[in-house]
Amino acid sequence: MSVSDRQPAARFDDLDWDNRLAALGETYAAPQAPTPLAYPPHPVAFSPDVAASLGLDPAVADDPDFVAVVAGNRVPAGAAPVAQVYAGHQFGVRVPRLGDGRAILLGQVRGPDGRLRDIQLKGAGRTPYARGADGRAILHSTVREFLASEAMAGLGIPTTRALAVVGSDDPVQREVPHTAAVLARVADTHVRFGSFEYFFYREMFDALAPLADHVIAAEYPDLTAIADDAERYRAWMAAVIDRTAELVADWQAVGFVHGVMNTDNMSVTGQTLDYGPFAFMDGYIPNWTPNHSDMHGRYAFDRQPTIALWNLGRFVQAILPLLAHHADDAVAIGREALDAYRGRFDAAYRRRMRAKLGLREARDGDDTLLEGLLRRMAAESADYTRVFRALGRVGAADDAPAGPFLDEFADREAAASWVADWRTRLAAEGTTDDAERRARMEAVNPKYVLRTYLAEAAVERAREGDFGEIERLRRILSAPCDEQPAHEDYARLPPEWARGIALSCSA
Ligand code: AMP
Ligand code: MG
Repeated sequence: MSVSDRQPAARFDDLDWDNRLAALGETYAAPQAPTPLAYPPHPVAFSPDVAASLGLDPAVADDPDFVAVVAGNRVPAGAAPVAQVYAGHQFGVRVPRLGDGRAILLGQVRGPDGRLRDIQLKGAGRTPYARGADGRAILHSTVREFLASEAMAGLGIPTTRALAVVGSDDPVQREVPHTAAVLARVADTHVRFGSFEYFFYREMFDALAPLADHVIAAEYPDLTAIADDAERYRAWMAAVIDRTAELVADWQAVGFVHGVMNTDNMSVTGQTLDYGPFAFMDGYIPNWTPNHSDMHGRYAFDRQPTIALWNLGRFVQAILPLLAHHADDAVAIGREALDAYRGRFDAAYRRRMRAKLGLREARDGDDTLLEGLLRRMAAESADYTRVFRALGRVGAADDAPAGPFLDEFADREAAASWVADWRTRLAAEGTTDDAERRARMEAVNPKYVLRTYLAEAAVERAREGDFGEIERLRRILSAPCDEQPAHEDYARLPPEWARGIALSCSA
């Protein structure tokens, strides 16, 4: 029977487990069972799409056995729980050993589509890499990660996914007392740039190839056809660079700030990984970060493209031993590959921003047009999401109404003068059909993003035992570009109290 003929499983035990990472051995990951929660766990959030992608029956959401597995209270037959080791650069500083301090990889599962995916429990107790911390997570961080993952997926941006969150009354001490929660996260792989850095810094060069092979087999299967090892690893390096450039272009286009782009939070698959002090920007402030521990703005919105390149530099350095027999050759090859990043990113970013402006063709002067709009937005912190959404409805004719777009600006005259330039540009490429253009623009300019205050409100309600708001947000954000008349409120400007909520890494 082929995988796709299987009935959806009612239990984790009946999934198609194939634990390739654990099979690589203890060099890469330490066997580690989750620590059960002391108090009874309860369901908090659930994503039916993610369950289905694993071959799990979406009806399991409230099933006590499902909740027990996500809580770490029962390890399913077929799983091989481990904590992965990695290193990384945190805020530019090399940390030779990090590793999953509170995350436990249950294993890989082959879904009905034939693809292997990791299932990981985040907040499932201490591991050998916990470094004195408690191994736990709380409602605030797990619910934010749950919603962000699903919102990103709704936007079509590569991301780890969130299967479920469960909570319990187990006390967890942070700045103030909290209770425990566990997130079941699903990823193509949890291997990070930092996973390779770990072995490079320890000069365990022989350990690099098996890990690279693991990633290539699962995530870059086309490359397995390249017989020559060094050639295959070089093609893989180039693909990681490309995917990372495309990912960061996606972030910039929707106004997403990751908040803590350490190399241990960078996936080798080009998926968004490790949602901590992230935010979707409300008002456009180019050098803004929601992470209040990032005093110098290292990971601010407008630095993300450059930081991604810096991080890729650390990744490429770590895999140098795979690229060529002679170190000098490897360095030259790595450098050349990194040189391709800027062009790839710029092209990817321009493509996305042209689409956001409703332009079909690339023309000279497009950068100036875009910069003109962004400058006006930055001058008064106009709402990033609402401005682009409203532009779709502005007619191309000189005398067409532009009211809702102009309403997003205090200086309406300056905004109107930009609209005139934009109309000239539309006319130059013969874009005159407003309805057609609006449809194109609305497909790339979301109406709904996970604004920080919306997530905060959902967490607040969850603390009171009401999880309905999480589910409502999950549904709204699964179709972020659709008009949802019943949910107009969720597309409003944030209320005054919510401007500038600061977030920390420590949750
Ligand atoms: P992050 O800033 O979330 O990317 O985490 C950086 C490192 O700290 C990773 O190795 C995490 O596993 C670890 N870590 C974060 N929080 C905890 C915790 N509560 N218990 C154990 N390890 C943690
Ligand atoms: Mg991390």
